[in-house]
Amino acid sequence: MSIDINTAWEELKRRVNECHKCALCNKRRNTVFGEGPELNCRVMIIGEAPGVDEDINSRPFVGKAGQLLTSILENGGKIPRETIYITNTVKCHPPENRDPKPEEISACSDFLEAQLLLLRPDIVVTLGNIPTRHLLMTSKGITSLRGQWFDWRGIRLFPMFHPSYLLRNDSRAEGSPKHLTWQDVKALKVEIDKLPQQKEGN
Ligand code: SF4
Repeated sequence: MSIDINTAWEELKRRVNECHKCALCNKRRNTVFGEGPELNCRVMIIGEAPGVDEDINSRPFVGKAGQLLTSILENGGKIPRETIYITNTVKCHPPENRDPKPEEISACSDFLEAQLLLLRPDIVVTLGNIPTRHLLMTSKGITSLRGQWFDWRGIRLFPMFHPSYLLRNDSRAEGSPKHLTWQDVKALKVEIDKLPQQKEGN
């Protein structure tokens, strides 16, 4: 069983590495597949798109926003980053850090769905508008969706603010995005702690 899953992961990584399905392949240095536990994964975080640091390092969330994400998880939620699988909605860096276009999100969606199928996480956390709108198929914004639980094909989905948004909104005052995010990560931790030790089917 695990050999088959390992083979499927390797094949998926190869397909992403060699992908030219959308225009984002033209200026990328590297694809950014994702990282984290590939077996017995309980929580998956999905961001928007790789930034410059991620493009250079071929790893998700390693720049300033990534450092803030790690701090939110580990200091705010007491959730070790290495226990979470982290990826993005699209696997290549959009030029000038622009948002990925709908056709780019659509072109890349098979890869995200394959990751979700292979991981079968108990909880998916979407960061910001792009993954939240994509998976929930809504036009509502993250401000009205964050901190609530949704169902995505039987998986619990929890939207939170994207850390790059928090970098631009530094206030910690009550009701500020940072304050709300600290509440959200604590709520996330409560639900993680309720998960059975052994994942079903493993
Ligand atoms: Fe392929 Fe996704 Fe990169 Fe577009 S963003 S080239 S679909 S891997």
